[in-house]
Amino acid sequence: MTSLFSDNNYEIEAHDFKPNACGTARPYIKSELKAGMKLHALHVEPGTKQLVKFNFNGGEIPATFIHGLHVKDQPEKTLVITAGVHPDEYPGIAALVRAANKINPEKLHGHLLLFHCVNLPGFWARSRFVPEDGFNLNSGYPGKADGTLGERIANFFVTNIFPQADFILDLHSGSPTERLTTCLFYPEDARADVRETAFNAAMATDIPWVLASHAKDGEYSYAANYMNVPGLLLERGYAGQCREEWIHGFERDIALLLKHLGMYSDLPELTNIPPCRKNICAHTFYLESRHTGLWYPDENIVNSIMEGRIIRKGSRLGHIENFYGEFLGDYYAESDGIIFYYTSGLAIREGDLLVAYGLLN
Ligand SMILES: [Zn+2]
Repeated sequence: MTSLFSDNNYEIEAHDFKPNACGTARPYIKSELKAGMKLHALHVEPGTKQLVKFNFNGGEIPATFIHGLHVKDQPEKTLVITAGVHPDEYPGIAALVRAANKINPEKLHGHLLLFHCVNLPGFWARSRFVPEDGFNLNSGYPGKADGTLGERIANFFVTNIFPQADFILDLHSGSPTERLTTCLFYPEDARADVRETAFNAAMATDIPWVLASHAKDGEYSYAANYMNVPGLLLERGYAGQCREEWIHGFERDIALLLKHLGMYSDLPELTNIPPCRKNICAHTFYLESRHTGLWYPDENIVNSIMEGRIIRKGSRLGHIENFYGEFLGDYYAESDGIIFYYTSGLAIREGDLLVAYGLLN
């Protein structure tokens, strides 16, 4: 494993972690880790948590590393969970902050690396991308060690984090201009055992729609397809909101996955109810715009996504006009399916995604 520490691309700060009397996170001892040290130099004692801050030149990532004390016959696994890859998708960020506080290291078996917000500059800028370079951290992997900030962050995960991971969970939501059905993606094209591990984990979550993904250059998808690390991308919530039900849903997914991986089973309030039934969707259709203009989705799809209702082949999904109100084109469903997400915002450029739906037949 190569380390970026040696070329001063970033440095890390770590704090020991102990909950205060109210159960809230509170750093209490600061241990300095200098540029040039390898990641495993950030030694987390069994049974403890460390609050970690990765400082990139121009960005930082808040994280919590937890090393379990609980001993089992099986070897220790490392689960990496990320949120804020798209930093305008909030429920996953809030859920990871809570999970980092809630998980008791004495009852954990293995290692948890929780990255609370991967794109922090984008979070403060309320942007979907890395503001410095417009980089989308869910594509463009593997990045570059000497590239722009977004490329360096991607490369940091490829060189330092993924090689240690047994499983990767990446938390997303619909963006401020998207509506979305709760769903997840698993790496359909990965090596058979990687695909199967990811698919079995998907069955353990509380997400009803399980979609086969053919992406290969996103965060978890790069790790699955090119590094043979199984993982999932989960989607809950939309429209730039951070509702309690979505945060709680992600907390439950995390707890169910930890239980499934044999790492933690002491969150009965989150895992006592069995996960929901699943609908598996092997083919997803992405309808792209043929026009640049003002996109008006039909009430039909607006309502179908709220009701979890199937749209029928041939039904109109919406239309596009120009700024003078002149009609540019209609868009229709090419198959029966359930809409997983659609762009609710008015602004659409040619090639932008309008509607993503799953084919049921
Ligand atoms: Zn996203």
